[in-house]
Amino acid sequence: MSSVEQGFFTVVDVKRYAYCPRIVFITHVLHLEERVSEAMEMGAEEHDTSFITPLLAKLRVSRVLRGLELESERLGLVGKLDYLLVTRDRELVPVEVKWSESLGGRIKWDHRVQLAAYALLVEDNLGSTVKRGYVYYLKDKRIVETLIDDEIKGIVRRMLSSMHEMVLMERDPGVRAPLSRCLNCGYLSYCRSGSSGGSEKKVSPGTPIVKILGDREGPEGRFPGKRPRMPELDNSRRDSEDMVK
Ligand code: SF4
Repeated sequence: MSSVEQGFFTVVDVKRYAYCPRIVFITHVLHLEERVSEAMEMGAEEHDTSFITPLLAKLRVSRVLRGLELESERLGLVGKLDYLLVTRDRELVPVEVKWSESLGGRIKWDHRVQLAAYALLVEDNLGSTVKRGYVYYLKDKRIVETLIDDEIKGIVRRMLSSMHEMVLMERDPGVRAPLSRCLNCGYLSYCRSGSSGGSEKKVSPGTPIVKILGDREGPEGRFPGKRPRMPELDNSRRDSEDMVK
């Protein structure tokens, strides 16, 4: 049984929750998935890795780890990081690549949350404090640095706690996102009635869609033999030297 089947969330789930909590309700309670979008298609493509070259010199990087798979039972979280840079000063710096464009040179909120979630995974697995990360936006070819401090890490921990509670209680958070955000959301056709031209079943804002769509597998089925995984605060960590390859 995979980690996700055992009740772990993925870092992508955390990013989606930061964009709109209802996406996690739709995917984890209703088990509906986004159709393949342009973003997903582009994200699946191989990207040019030359963007990373200036960072290597700037940060004095001694090692680059690509596609690093990370898991934390303590956090109930798994993820696959695009790049982890290891500097000569032994700083660990996560880097994510996005198909989209930056916010006029700034990082998008959900992408900052995603980097912070990776930072927690890196810290839990490798034992070094992560202080910053980068997102490379393919569309406008910008690499943006962001601070990953205790505040944003605390926000991610609280999000994870809320996500686990929401799924276990099957609690629909309702439609709270502004329409402008919904129009860019791959779940619009499942979520907001009359807002898209899709043929999927539509549900009015705020309606408990789990009831309309009929009986679904209950929370116990998704978390077999598991208690809800709430982020813990113990500081036990493994030696980074054992993990970095
Ligand atoms: S359509 Fe809007 S409310 Fe529904 S999941 Fe997407 S962003 Fe959230």
